[in-house]
Amino acid sequence: MAVQILTVLGSTGSIGVSTLDVVTRHPDRFQVYALTGASQIDKLHAQCLIHSPRFAVVLDEQLASRLQAKLLASGSETEVLCGEAALETVASAPVVTTVMAAIVGAAGMRPTLAAARVGKRVLLANKETLVLAGRLFMDEVTRCGATLLPIDSEHNAIFQVLPRAYREAPYAGTLGGAGVKRILLTASGGPFRTRPLDTLAAVTPDEAVRHPNWSMGRKISVDSASMMNKGLEVIEARWLFNAAVDDIAVVVHPQSIVHSMVEYVDGSVLAQMGAPDMRIPIAYGMGYPERIESGAASLDLFSVGRLDFEAPDFARFPCLRLAFDALRAGGASTAVLNAANEVAVAAFLDRGLGYTGIPALIESVLAECDGQVRADSIEALMDADALARERATAWLARSH
Ligand code: NAD
Ligand code: MG
Repeated sequence: MAVQILTVLGSTGSIGVSTLDVVTRHPDRFQVYALTGASQIDKLHAQCLIHSPRFAVVLDEQLASRLQAKLLASGSETEVLCGEAALETVASAPVVTTVMAAIVGAAGMRPTLAAARVGKRVLLANKETLVLAGRLFMDEVTRCGATLLPIDSEHNAIFQVLPRAYREAPYAGTLGGAGVKRILLTASGGPFRTRPLDTLAAVTPDEAVRHPNWSMGRKISVDSASMMNKGLEVIEARWLFNAAVDDIAVVVHPQSIVHSMVEYVDGSVLAQMGAPDMRIPIAYGMGYPERIESGAASLDLFSVGRLDFEAPDFARFPCLRLAFDALRAGGASTAVLNAANEVAVAAFLDRGLGYTGIPALIESVLAECDGQVRADSIEALMDADALARERATAWLARSH
């Protein structure tokens, strides 16, 4: 068993912390090369003392010098770098074998792409990379021989139950050719699945981030409440598994025990189940193709008792419909959708936008950017992302 040399992009976040928890359980398998965080230098400092990485990366120079001083005072030899270019450097350094891509939002795209372009083993939590640049990213993964392992729990589940030859080279074949009829993507329905519709306008950030089953970062928690998260995941599945939009169905499953399913042409439906603990898909990706301990509790089926399934309600969750529409529209529409959503969610968390304003803003920005954006290069997609952010910010200014 060769030791994996690991860079954790976004180590201070929810996925980053769970990743390091798995690392700690397997000191013989993993060695940490770099840890990165936007601004939480106390947390990063503590992580550096435990894992002794060669590098730590933060967003700006001021934070970098503060963190460096703290590390030196603690006797640590970790060197602190800063800025976006440094993220790409630690994601693509020759000695690194494995990169956990766990930055939140479009900011995670460039370092993830940098890792793929040098053929790393990429553990992909940052779904926004695929929403923003799915086709180009998958092309680079294939062209550069990177190993892509999905960490998002649903995609990890689908990966586990697809035939091995297909999941490892989805673009060398087709889903139908692998005997697959469709992908069933499960969704919890979030905290507002049964809340009276006329009370949704009054939802607060605290209510939106209180997910019934999963503990996650704030942005993805709001996305889960609006079901934009499931919309982003449909787009993610489209690219990861070389699926058509119509090959993917969303199934609401409030208990979050079945993490997703694959239906085969003979009528067999294979599911992956487990406790809602992200260390399970993380450990799967880290150990692949072997299975390693994750620290998650055994699934207690008797206390779960029952598994329910429902059709998604597109009227209650307009963000889910917007995501399907953007995927069908193709081109840079999903990049626009993603950027508008990031601006809307940040404004909602800052109390500058009501909950029902989120889909209103996104729909308006998608209409404004229609026909104005291209998707033929990473630069064009970054321009689409920037234009959508500009239009979203203008929309917010007008709505005040
Ligand atoms: P989080 O907010 O808890 O952590 C995000 C990390 O990214 C932090 O380390 C933060 O410092 C860093 N970061 C934020 N902005 C940055 C920027 N501009 N530049 C560099 N670094 C930046 O988020 P999370 O919940 O851990 O989610 C991370 C990613 O994983 C997201 O793309 C999310 O959709 C995906 N994901 C998360 C979960 C989950 O359970 N938390 C499940 C599935 C997928
Ligand atoms: Mg998910």
